[in-house]
Amino acid sequence: MTGYVDGQRTMAEIETLRPGDTGYDEARQVWNAMVDRRPALIVRCRSTRDVVAAVALARNEGLEIGVRCGGHSVVGLSVPEGGLMIDLTPMGGVRVDPDRRRARVQGGALLGALDRATQAHGLATTAGNISHTGVGGLTLGGGMGWLARRYGLSCDNVESFEVVTATGDVVRASAEENPELFWGLRGGGGNFGVVTEFEFRLHPTGTQALSVELDFPAEDAFRALSRWRDLAVSAPRQATYAASVGGGVATLGFVWVGDPAAGREHTRALEALGSPAQRRVADLTYVELQTRDDTPQGHAQRRYWKGHYFSDLPDAAIERLATHDPTVFAGIQAYGGAITDVPDEATAFSHRATAFEYVGATRWTDPAEDQARIAAARASAASLEPFADGVYVNTLGDDGAAGIERAYPPAKLARLTALKDAVDPDNVFHLNQNIRPSRP
Ligand code: FAD
Repeated sequence: MTGYVDGQRTMAEIETLRPGDTGYDEARQVWNAMVDRRPALIVRCRSTRDVVAAVALARNEGLEIGVRCGGHSVVGLSVPEGGLMIDLTPMGGVRVDPDRRRARVQGGALLGALDRATQAHGLATTAGNISHTGVGGLTLGGGMGWLARRYGLSCDNVESFEVVTATGDVVRASAEENPELFWGLRGGGGNFGVVTEFEFRLHPTGTQALSVELDFPAEDAFRALSRWRDLAVSAPRQATYAASVGGGVATLGFVWVGDPAAGREHTRALEALGSPAQRRVADLTYVELQTRDDTPQGHAQRRYWKGHYFSDLPDAAIERLATHDPTVFAGIQAYGGAITDVPDEATAFSHRATAFEYVGATRWTDPAEDQARIAAARASAASLEPFADGVYVNTLGDDGAAGIERAYPPAKLARLTALKDAVDPDNVFHLNQNIRPSRP
């Protein structure tokens, strides 16, 4: 499965797509339908050697590089206008070693492939909540999911990476080999090279899950949300509290991975929230849980979002959430648990003391609505910003350098900059949430 470098590949041997070619338009489409950029060349990589050849070609020709895995960067960072897109989607393989509890995952794999392959053995590692998201971007930025409170973020479960660097070298990064690069790849995004393989640790999660959702009308949202907040911070690690506010309804509850009977037992805690208008309790397999929102969160719609991290949610913040613009969907997910077991300085990923992640997201189809929709999401997020303590790098969109400064505290950013200077001083990999080298 893994294509370690065992000789040179010439571009003639690699599938490429140019404007006008069959498949070109499909390959340049990403999750957000607002993104309509046209690379000069799309290199459909099938092996590490193909990635090496693509990096060399781009550098020789002076083409801007975009790296595509799942294509879920909300601003479409994987698609360079007039540049060279390193399309990793043909590298979507996952190989599981159930005895050693390890998965080797190619750099273009989607979360669904990872979950399906590991669940065949009753195993899993932390992945995000929508199965068409890429393992690549998600893990390199951190990787939050229903298992994170128990087993840490996706990046916390990486044993090693195989990376093609800006100089076209193929290196491994782990606690023993290139440890500083290993540190930076766990939360520093796509800044340091193209990851062609992730080696993940797996856990015996079983295959069962429980989802509990209670709907409250707008007038009850403040009271229910403030009680939900209090329960979330003291919940057992199997439970990840999640909430959303949008369209005049607040939906509050939790997801439980593991024995559903124990999860049902925990639902009693939610009685403190009051009487919901509707209540949904669903037994699911873990794979069903991981795919159930794939359609509402699907492709081909126009999208915009803003994110925040909160180390707590004071009543004043809850008040603003409860009265959130109904056209902007506020999603809140609780952190804590094993995420905080890892010292903040151990990885580039930052703000481990976060209690809640917020994303204010909106979707629409008519381009005439672009400005109004974007303005609404910005205003909702701005109303909550006074309560925020940083942001998750994977929820950054058009935030620019100010977003990077919110994602990484100054000492982290200085260390990331030093690593960038060491491994990519020319900023070859800059279509990402960019850590700029100190000498541009
Ligand atoms: P891409 O657009 O393909 O890649 C994004 C960037 O990552 C690229 O520009 C590149 O810099 C880098 N990159 C990707 N792969 C590689 C690689 N192999 N080597 C080097 N660089 C690479 N995040 C969570 O933590 N948890 C969630 O539950 C979650 N759910 C989401 C659901 C949806 C519908 C969406 C749109 C996003 C979600 N996210 C979630 C955020 C997600 O982690 C980021 O959008 C992430 O960047 C997506 O990665 P991708 O590979 O799909 O995107």
